[in-house]
Amino acid sequence: MAAASTSAPLPSARFRCFAGCAGTFPVTRALYTCPTCGGLLEVAHDLDALAHMRSGPAWRELFDARWSPRVTASVKPSGVWAKREWIAPELPDEDIVTTGEGMTPLYDAHRLAKEVGFGELFVKQCGNAHTGSFKDLGMTVLVSVVRHAKRIGALPVRAIACASTGDTSAALAAYGAAAGLPVVVLLPHGLVSTAQLVQPLAHGAKVLALETDFDGCMAIVKELAARELVYLANSMNPLRIEGQKSVALEIAQQLGWDAPDWVVIPSGNLGNSAALHAGFAMAKALGVIERLPRLVIAQAERANPMYRAVSAGRSTVEAVVAQPTQASAIRIGNPVSAPRAMAALRAMNGVGEAGSAHEPADACARADRSGLYACPHTGVAIACAMKLRARGVIGERERVVVVSTANALKFTEFKLAYHERRIEGASSRLANEPVVLRADVETVAAQL
Ligand SMILES: *Cc1c(COP(=O)(O)O)cnc(C)c1O
Ligand SMILES: [Zn+2]
Repeated sequence: MAAASTSAPLPSARFRCFAGCAGTFPVTRALYTCPTCGGLLEVAHDLDALAHMRSGPAWRELFDARWSPRVTASVKPSGVWAKREWIAPELPDEDIVTTGEGMTPLYDAHRLAKEVGFGELFVKQCGNAHTGSFKDLGMTVLVSVVRHAKRIGALPVRAIACASTGDTSAALAAYGAAAGLPVVVLLPHGLVSTAQLVQPLAHGAKVLALETDFDGCMAIVKELAARELVYLANSMNPLRIEGQKSVALEIAQQLGWDAPDWVVIPSGNLGNSAALHAGFAMAKALGVIERLPRLVIAQAERANPMYRAVSAGRSTVEAVVAQPTQASAIRIGNPVSAPRAMAALRAMNGVGEAGSAHEPADACARADRSGLYACPHTGVAIACAMKLRARGVIGERERVVVVSTANALKFTEFKLAYHERRIEGASSRLANEPVVLRADVETVAAQL
């Protein structure tokens, strides 16, 4: 196994235009769009330097050695920073802001798989996280780079800000608090769960609840960032994608460095779909995996601009006004990362699918009965996977990974509504309510 030779170029990462305009820029710059065309940016890694540093098998060996219970000074106990050369290679140790994100379980949902006819079904439990969603994975990178940029005097902006459907603001507020940096979050008033609202409040963020939807909040925070009043922490900022990329790497690693046949991901702003592709593509380019999985972008039927575009054979996504859905974190009508997700679908021979208003609730209930505790977004993904299986798009022997994006403990209202049979259209076939009894042994025994 070749260690890095001293004469080899060190790996580096720079911003560049996603559409291919010339020029690269330091990742410490507060830059969110291409200065030439105004389009999205991406982080470009020096793949030659990384390939020169280690072979594919040697990278696997290194990453496996770092997936360890030991806490050492040089390796942070974090699934993101365990792969730091591929994510933020130039960031000094001292600037890393981590809560021990990543290294989440790949749950073998074999009972559910059997019940609904999958060969193999795994659930990547990204909600088993510090703030209860996958958003921690991107936020550790973004906040660490901001801390570094401020320390070297490259970033004059004082506060970090985001628009959020709940989970982004929870993650940003936690990492901002851990770093001692001020945070401002813009939420659609009344449209996030109680747990999600309390999180940024508890971390001391400035919480602005706006009388609009997510897309309305996004438009405003983009303008605040353009005026250099805040640093933008939404996934339009490609630093988020870099950390979220680790989900793809972990899935491959947990399957013995093999890609599954399918990855199904619930999507709103479409940054996470793009991140999955970025991770799998990098692993393939560096010889760590041999093939890419196929991608399913799962959307809620009432917020499905990507699904509509794919179904109509269009390569551009037209904004819609997102309607209410239980899957509140993906109630997004004008997804910022649409061009990135389109490219991901193309490269991964992917498909779009949408779950209707009630299907995710029923899918969650079935998943919960098999031992999972699925949030409504995970329910959308499971429902979409089931439909694709029923139509034969997903084969009966294929290996499927569903990305669970949040911890269902944040969505108690949703669970309760199902079990109290208050979700319109849901069968509530598995509804289960407490039996209230007199506290007396005979009465209780009679119930068993
Ligand atoms: C943010 C979020 C999503 C959607 O991710 P995008 O990158 O916006 O597509 C899905 N589920 C949950 C729980 C989320 O918090
Ligand atoms: Zn450009």
